[in-house]
Amino acid sequence: MTEVRVPDIGDFTDVPVIEVHVSPGDEVAVEDPLVTLESEKATMDVPAPLAGTVKQLQVKVGDRVSEGSVLVTLETDSAGPSGDGAAAPPTEASVQEEPPPSPDGGGQDAQVVVLGAGVGGYTAAFRAADLGLKTILIERYERLGGVCLNVGCIPSKALLHAARVIAEVEEMGSRGITYGRPKIDLEPLIGWKQSVVDKLTGGLAGLARQRKVEVIRGVARFEGPNAMTVEGRTVTFDNCIIAAGSQAATLPDLPDDPRIIDSTGALAPDELPERLLVIGGGIIGLEMATVYDALGSEVTVVELLDQLIPECDPDLIKPLQQRISTRYEDIRLETKVMSVEAQKSGLKVTLSDEQTATYDRILVAVGRTPNGHAIDAATAGVNVDERGFIPVDKQMRTNVPGIYAIGDIVPGPMLAHKAAHEGKVAAEVIAGQAVEFDARAIPSVAYTDPEVAWMGLTESEAKESGVDYQKQVFPWAASGRALGLGRGDGLTKLLFESDSHRLLGAGIVGVNAGDLIAETVLALEMAADAEDIGLTVHPHPTLSETVAFAADMAAGTITDLMPPRPREGARA
Ligand SMILES: Cc1cc2nc3c(=O)[nH]c(=O)nc-3n(C[C@H](O)[C@H](O)[C@H](O)COP(=O)(O)OP(=O)(O)OC[C@H]3O[C@@H](n4cnc5c(N)ncnc54)[C@H](O)[C@@H]3O)c2cc1C
Repeated sequence: MTEVRVPDIGDFTDVPVIEVHVSPGDEVAVEDPLVTLESEKATMDVPAPLAGTVKQLQVKVGDRVSEGSVLVTLETDSAGPSGDGAAAPPTEASVQEEPPPSPDGGGQDAQVVVLGAGVGGYTAAFRAADLGLKTILIERYERLGGVCLNVGCIPSKALLHAARVIAEVEEMGSRGITYGRPKIDLEPLIGWKQSVVDKLTGGLAGLARQRKVEVIRGVARFEGPNAMTVEGRTVTFDNCIIAAGSQAATLPDLPDDPRIIDSTGALAPDELPERLLVIGGGIIGLEMATVYDALGSEVTVVELLDQLIPECDPDLIKPLQQRISTRYEDIRLETKVMSVEAQKSGLKVTLSDEQTATYDRILVAVGRTPNGHAIDAATAGVNVDERGFIPVDKQMRTNVPGIYAIGDIVPGPMLAHKAAHEGKVAAEVIAGQAVEFDARAIPSVAYTDPEVAWMGLTESEAKESGVDYQKQVFPWAASGRALGLGRGDGLTKLLFESDSHRLLGAGIVGVNAGDLIAETVLALEMAADAEDIGLTVHPHPTLSETVAFAADMAAGTITDLMPPRPREGARA
């Protein structure tokens, strides 16, 4: 008899059994699923470690179990390789330990090899597997999830939530509710952020296993158009999806000093700097500035260009700049860092206007560099441009048949949602589907305070390209919901095509702008016009109404403000 127990399921305990696949008397083969468990992130099958007959079920749907709980008793012919009948754990290690598939009859190891397990790579691999393709996912780090899950989107947003809580408490001070100054205990705060990351990345390993995606750990390099090496092993493939991502760009001539950090370092501080200099007024720099400001650091931001987040319309940046200029020590636009001198007392910085100041930490947030030159792509004949990007067509095909590329390593905005969508397209194209990446808009969000979000055509682009557009802006000072949140500082701007009144672009600044922008992306994809949006009943009172109100302004039907001059053809 063999008792099948819950294997190592990472940090999860007390997880529910959501499905039982066998009954007493059933014959099972090795790897047949016995029960399915559900963690916060993923469902995972517990497979039979050995072939045999189910003698007894120790659990039913709804029971909660943890590592070691007995699930099923199997009558088996042998005690199996481990002797204890423990189910193979759905963990990264077990996936890694699977023997390498050997080519059979001249075939390849996999129909699809995905290089890099970031958001783009794991999405592509999982979609390929779901489409029935034999898939291998290669990742140099132990944890799956790449930059976004480990050192990007997810940990930064966890810390930004902490920052928002601190700011909200402060804001209530003038409204009759006063707390003391926050006491920041860095270790549990960073521990909590890491627990969020661990939950997500742990779930990915289970999802890979459930889909029978083989995960190989190690640094991969191309050997040719149908092979790559990973830690001495040659992996052959019919198709490859390059999803090797990007890394933080650096500045030349900076001293080698641990007090100079990139975004990864900023997400795991060992102490809070009294004075922080952020080099780069883009999204990543400003998000980290938001965190450190809330945690109590004196923050200075230096930006080379004449606007923070230069790719965004200036009217959307204004409310952000107004708020942070009252909170930060300094915001220096059109300013360059000329030199940094590492001194015992701090990092002495000289700016292009010859001013000097000393900081405890410097965060370098000057963009990201694609990893195209780090994977020997040329050996496979794949074109890589001088910046490290791999050019692709709308089906994510590189110049080499059978080799695709997605995510940060291909041109376009370096955003996780773009990488994921491209990953799906690449997998579907390989599976023979007639699809291409044809998104009409890829939304951008700065999760600063206030948040800034935009999608589609920006007003600056409309002006530059001479598009005939109509703009409507609904100020949040007229939104009951925004006022109730104490945050009437936002605005919602919609751009419509003058003739058709179809939505062309949108920009929102204010709390939760990142969530609100999604509706406008859908409207753009569905070719909605102002009346489609305005006539859609939005719940009241919500910030989402500001989108409908801006559309009502375009349709000439706004009642919460005085209507702008009616336009021809508007609803009477
Ligand atoms: C601080 C920060 C915050 C961010 N916040 C957001 C956000 O809020 N929203 C958003 O949309 N985007 C955000 N981003 C950007 C987002 O993280 C990236 O766009 C996304 O991670 C790109 O995914 P990817 O799969 O293309 O590449 P990556 O996430 O870079 O993954 C590539 C993977 O390939 C692996 N790899 C590389 N070379 C090799 C090799 N030779 N062998 C084996 N493995 C290899 C890497 O280890 C990595 O795991 C943020 C980025 C940062 C740095």
